Amino acid sequence: MGLAVGIDLGTSNSCVACVRNGEVIVCVDSEGRHTQPSVVAFGTRSVIVGHRAKKQLLHAPESTVMSAKRLIGRNFEDAEVQRMKARSAFGVFRGDSGDPRFRVHGKAYAPEEISGHVLAHMKRIAEAQLGEVVDKAVITVPAYFNDPQRQATRDAAQIAGLECLRILNEPTAAALAYGYGRAQKKRIVVYDLGGGTFDVSILRVDGDLYEVIATAGDTLLGGDDFDNLCADELVRMFEAQVKQSFADNRTVRMRMREAAEMAKIALSESEEVLIDLPTAWRTVQGVDHAFTYTLNRHTYARWVLPLVQRTLLICEETMRSAKMNMRHIDAVLLVGGMTRYPLVREAAQHLFGRMPDTSVNPDEAVAVGAAIQAHMLTSTDAMTSPTVLLDVTPQSLSIRTMGGHCDVLIPHNTPIPTEQSKVFHTAVDQQTEVRIAVYQGEGRHADMNELLGQFVLDVPPMPRGQVRVRVTFSIDVDGIVQVRAVDDKLAKEASIRIEARGGMSPEEVREAQLDTLNASDITPA
Ligand code: AMP
Repeated sequence: MGLAVGIDLGTSNSCVACVRNGEVIVCVDSEGRHTQPSVVAFGTRSVIVGHRAKKQLLHAPESTVMSAKRLIGRNFEDAEVQRMKARSAFGVFRGDSGDPRFRVHGKAYAPEEISGHVLAHMKRIAEAQLGEVVDKAVITVPAYFNDPQRQATRDAAQIAGLECLRILNEPTAAALAYGYGRAQKKRIVVYDLGGGTFDVSILRVDGDLYEVIATAGDTLLGGDDFDNLCADELVRMFEAQVKQSFADNRTVRMRMREAAEMAKIALSESEEVLIDLPTAWRTVQGVDHAFTYTLNRHTYARWVLPLVQRTLLICEETMRSAKMNMRHIDAVLLVGGMTRYPLVREAAQHLFGRMPDTSVNPDEAVAVGAAIQAHMLTSTDAMTSPTVLLDVTPQSLSIRTMGGHCDVLIPHNTPIPTEQSKVFHTAVDQQTEVRIAVYQGEGRHADMNELLGQFVLDVPPMPRGQVRVRVTFSIDVDGIVQVRAVDDKLAKEASIRIEARGGMSPEEVREAQLDTLNASDITPA
């Protein structure tokens, strides 16, 4: 039997940890690095992941895929998919089931496959360090991920050859890392701003009990957005300088984006930074145009303040949902790489009226919490403390009713696991099927929410109103939605067909698993 680890599968970076002999180990690669870029570079014959792949980004952007997590579980038509399509050097196209696929060297990859390569890389790093086979993992996701995004993350684990023990919310994992082994009674806020997503969760921690009271977030608000916004400003200045439009020049955009991220990281330590790109643009005639600009914190703050303010609004809304005010909070945890930026720290500190707790490492806390949970789920040691995690569903589950309105069955912030039943009658004589469309989200209209699936129940032909089908919607501990139906009269399970379900088919997942497991790119440390 192999080991169980915790993996923080991030938009920008990933981290893997394990509990061994009662101690948490954050696994490092052969060069001692604790986190790995979630970047996958496809060669003609090999696949490389992590730091080496990130290095390839500038030389071979058309075959190097990053930020795949922003597309996982989404529809091709989503605005974010279209934005990535316009900005990326690799192809993004519509898969047969309506989800986005990447095209690299003429081959198609689902976002799950890219995440699968990242997870397989993390598994190999853990195996190299621990000297044992790793075959199980608790994998973290943003608390605000919806059902298709969670399902797709499970598929990514299977592709990587890992049994997914649990899908755990990132802020909950961070809270576990903070509270583990510290018998205490506190109400804490976890403010989690990573590379691609923002989450905030309010928890009550009482000894070994971790209870999420409310959570909210934005799955398209993270460091990538800061970098894209800054890159837009730099491109605009460069366009004015050389009197040339770069709207269709992805190489110039890529260079500016890279420069924007480096400038942001430098600005978190110093007041100003010199952006110096000797070859920001090379013309077809081979003439190089340089771009230099001194960016200071003040200008950067002016550009990105709307993004920071969005996170604060979400925090205020979550506090309202939890029916709490700032005085009720005992500790504020900041996690995610973006919380290293002073403006972000100051904004969170100002909002919550207290200094953030610095006892957790913002880059590792989520993986550490996942490792603790993995240990809890697999340990046979009676001494392991029986920690109880009570999480909530971040988004409401509803069904579409007449006029396209949404009838909420399970409201957001309901403790999970949970289930709710509803009885449906046939409306027409001799009707042979009942169609139920299930949505997730807070919009009052169905078209403002995410369609999870159309559930079609086959019913016996009878006069209208005579067939009663009890449909039970449940959300499991992973936040994944399940639907069951029982024909009330026959007292037997009614058959359900699920339509409009995107993502990879089980056969595709199995094939991708073989491809991923055959691709090897690291030499054990
Ligand atoms: P994560 O997904 O938590 O690893 O966060 C990654 C994001 O944090 C990326 O957008 C990074 O550019 C950003 N980041 C990492 N270190 C810093 C830093 N020192 N200052 C500002 N942003 C950072």
